[in-house]
Amino acid sequence: MLNTAKANFPSLLRIIFAIAVGFLLSQVKLDLFESYFYDFRLKARPQVTNSENIVLVISNKDTVSAFKEIPSFKLHSDLLKKLNQASPRAIVYATALERVNGSPQDKILFSKISNENKNFYYVTDNLAMKGENKSIQLTGELSSVNIASGPVTSDKKSFAQDGVTRRMLYSYQEQILFHTLLAGQINPEVLKKERVRGLFPWIDSDQLFISFQKPKSFETYKFEEILTNTSLLDRLKNKIVIVGDDLQLETKDYVQTPFSRKIDAMTVAELHANMLETLIQNSAPIRAPPWLNTIITILISILTVHVVLTVKPLKGILILIGAATGFSIISYFAFWPFGFWLEMAHPFLAIFLCYYFFIPYRLIVENRRSWEYYQKHKLLSEVEQLKTNFIGLMSHDLKTPLARIQGMTEIIQKEPTPLSSAQREALDLIKQSSVDLTAFISTILNYAKIESQGVELHKQSKDINQLLLEVIKKHEFLAKLKRIQLLPELETLFSIKVDPELIKQVLSNLIENAIKYSPEDSKVLISTEESDGKIIIQVADQGSGISADELSNIFMKFFRSKNAKSSPIKGSGLGLYLAKYFVELHQGRIYCESTPGQGSTFTVELPISN
Ligand code: ADP
Repeated sequence: MLNTAKANFPSLLRIIFAIAVGFLLSQVKLDLFESYFYDFRLKARPQVTNSENIVLVISNKDTVSAFKEIPSFKLHSDLLKKLNQASPRAIVYATALERVNGSPQDKILFSKISNENKNFYYVTDNLAMKGENKSIQLTGELSSVNIASGPVTSDKKSFAQDGVTRRMLYSYQEQILFHTLLAGQINPEVLKKERVRGLFPWIDSDQLFISFQKPKSFETYKFEEILTNTSLLDRLKNKIVIVGDDLQLETKDYVQTPFSRKIDAMTVAELHANMLETLIQNSAPIRAPPWLNTIITILISILTVHVVLTVKPLKGILILIGAATGFSIISYFAFWPFGFWLEMAHPFLAIFLCYYFFIPYRLIVENRRSWEYYQKHKLLSEVEQLKTNFIGLMSHDLKTPLARIQGMTEIIQKEPTPLSSAQREALDLIKQSSVDLTAFISTILNYAKIESQGVELHKQSKDINQLLLEVIKKHEFLAKLKRIQLLPELETLFSIKVDPELIKQVLSNLIENAIKYSPEDSKVLISTEESDGKIIIQVADQGSGISADELSNIFMKFFRSKNAKSSPIKGSGLGLYLAKYFVELHQGRIYCESTPGQGSTFTVELPISN
């Protein structure tokens, strides 16, 4: 119970921390950062279909060279006459009239002609407060020109504060503004505030984000073309004609847009076209509510903290990149085609913050863990060393009393006084036991020496078959006692470089075990062959075999199978451990295959070239 609570505590703490980071972060204004993600999505979406309700008439450098002047009021009056003939839906003047030259009579004429069209609007940035409509009239001879409030906004002091135009006004102090009124003639739906997409209140006004078309998406004619080419007038029928300037004279004639931050990125006339088009299509992007942004940021924070603290670094980075990519794709497709603007700045920053905050924490934890591991390992190897020393010392100290027992037994046996048969039997047993014990102690001492000093290889070129025959010969007596046949099947082999004493010890151990763990009257097959650049030695017996669960342990030091321990067969559990150690010193391999009840086959592979 205590343990689970202990184990859960850090993950609970992690989640609380991630929620706190995500929540606090989502309260911070990141409009500039967000604006890059917003602009990117706007630019990256495919071309939005144009309603083809708007046509631009622009004066540019060509116009000035055609007329040898910036179009004067006279020329503007001519233009208006032509436009009136074309019966457009509306004429929107987005030209700076204060720059236009002309006599008072010319201005009066211009005003008069403009008034001939009910849908003529001279669009201005000025806003009239409620009940003060008269305050935005032009002065002097132009005072009767129909003027409309359609301000150009830019994110100078609010939102991204980068001077880019992204928003437009829908209404001011509850009065519907010019763009809305005009677009409402084509799409009456936008006259109802609750039906307009993406509308949000902002300082006394209702605003929306402009759904920009790609630059130069609107049908555009030059001022002088309209004056000279009457066939073009047909194209203006029923359209909203916006008259504007592209003279590169003043920055106020241009705006920066999400498509380009150049100071002359888009003419004000084209901007008005985009504003009108957004309302005509009612396609302003809808910004996701703040609570949704908070939830997404919190979720991403939880994921990042979890990944940083629990997943392997490379996999973790891949997961986070995957999550960021996945979220970007979702945000892109929410924006297009659904016009839903999911904020990306907060979730992205959450990934970075959580990542860089928790990586050092993880490093500290891992460092401490590996230090603890190192200390534990050091302690274990010290204990291991002490154990080996202790075994060695003990065995050494046992040797002297054991030699004394053996000596005494021999003295008694040589005594002339005859012993009873029971006494003689007891004496034989004492002698045999002390011989066994001496052999055991020698093995232990040998092992202790190898453990503490290692082994020095004294390699010589030797024929393995030769070594095998020597070992077999040494064990013939032992085999005969149990009537076991040792059957060598030796292929002719090249000599290889080995330490003969160590290899003989390995072979000796395998053959001795085969005899020890086999029943009487059985066979032990000892074979050699050469294959794939290796010499393969096999010792196969028909003995008790080794169970599958014990097979993996037989090469461990001091391991003896349950059967071996409960039987009278003596052993130290060190033979195979040392055999493996010696074989591996020769870059070889030793393994065992066994079927319990049927027998075991031990295989030693030694590389020919080493
Ligand atoms: P031991 O001195 O006990 O024989 P070894 O390291 O030589 O020690 O062998 C480890 C254990 O592997 C033995 O105790 C025995 O249980 C098992 N073993 C080894 N060789 C054989 C074999 N030929 N047949 C059955 N069991 C074997």
